[in-house]
Amino acid sequence: MVSSRLAYTLRQYARNAQSARPVYPVRSLSTTSRLWTANATASTAAPSEATLTAVADKEALQVQWQDNKRSLYGYLWLRDNCQCDQCIHPSNRQKLHSSADIPLDIAPKSVITKDDVAEVVWNKPLRHGQDKDHVSQYPLSWLQRYANRESSETYRFETLRPQTWDQSQYELDWVDYGDYMHSDEGLHTVVQRLYNKGLVFIDGVPTRDESVTQVAERIGPVYETFYGRDFDVKNVAKSRNIAYTSLYLGFHMDLMYTDSPPGIQLLHSLQNTVTGGASIFVDSYRAVEMLKSQYPEDYQTLTSTAVTFHYVNDGHHMYYRRPTIVAGENDAAWDMHVNYAPQFQGPMDHLSPQEGKRFYRAFQRFADLIEDEKLRFQLTLQPGQLVMFANRRVLHGRTSFDPLSGDRHLKGTYIHLDSLKDKLRTLCEKYGYSSRV
Ligand SMILES: [Zn+2]
Repeated sequence: MVSSRLAYTLRQYARNAQSARPVYPVRSLSTTSRLWTANATASTAAPSEATLTAVADKEALQVQWQDNKRSLYGYLWLRDNCQCDQCIHPSNRQKLHSSADIPLDIAPKSVITKDDVAEVVWNKPLRHGQDKDHVSQYPLSWLQRYANRESSETYRFETLRPQTWDQSQYELDWVDYGDYMHSDEGLHTVVQRLYNKGLVFIDGVPTRDESVTQVAERIGPVYETFYGRDFDVKNVAKSRNIAYTSLYLGFHMDLMYTDSPPGIQLLHSLQNTVTGGASIFVDSYRAVEMLKSQYPEDYQTLTSTAVTFHYVNDGHHMYYRRPTIVAGENDAAWDMHVNYAPQFQGPMDHLSPQEGKRFYRAFQRFADLIEDEKLRFQLTLQPGQLVMFANRRVLHGRTSFDPLSGDRHLKGTYIHLDSLKDKLRTLCEKYGYSSRV
């Protein structure tokens, strides 16, 4: 959409901003002597045109695009988002004024277009400012980017939808460590797959202690938690955490008892000679879809009942309350969160017996869906193999193993979801986005 900059012809209009007429239809403009029509920008290819009109009662500029859609840009918004070097610092790209500085009665003195740029001269300076006759220039491609919410969300890759999966749909497709570490293509693949499926496997990772954080840092800084910069998952006698034993470790997400649970988790196998101990994964978004369609009432209950998560052990007291399902504003891949970690639930002391019963029924139905073997993807990580997964989407767990049969050692770390989204946007802007990765 943004790339269609050359696809339209433009007819240009200027107007006196003080005029009281509510709307200037395109035809009447040229007959109104106070306004003038500039030359159309040359473009023989495009059959239609973009037209700028001032809409007085809405205190806005209207752009009519070639597909006949119209977008309104309020004068306050336009002045606030001036792209000039006085308004946005040319090197650090930060805004140099605040939205609080825009006079509420700001309006254009004139509007003209030059090539594919709309130029506005404003009738007054910013509050507390002296910048008389400030000139703002808005490339049409920029206006088009902010033409509506969908358009700006497309620019930010916020319209992508997750591709939920079950066992039969998840295709194991190893990414080579060298490709990932040393080529944009490898990194682009991993980032898109994490976005689409929430689960990626990398092969050929050197079995060194520092490898897992090096793999993480290819996407963004390590998220250090009270477990440290990285953590070891080994069989340890008298373990402080259930993950460090040889028992079955049921599906869960990490650090639900913190203010910001990590978005991405990495686990790297350094050693594995035990019998058992497979890693298991479930796409919780699929379980949510199933719950929502089969038991809508239970879905509602799980979106509205806060669950207690805590970690009270070893000199720590961590605590957070959040609903099992946080439905986002729209259905974008990262707009929804599932919060599920039965091992770290604390007492739900804030529910009445009736509310409690409703919650337990809903939670049990959701848990049954999660435990459905048809959803489960299972794999035993061999030394040098690494998994990355979206911690707030893909549930992970481990089958039990015989601790006497050998050694098992995984090393893990976390990164923030923001780092992944950052990489996704920059790489996809450069190379495009594919839902098939
Ligand atoms: Zn400016």
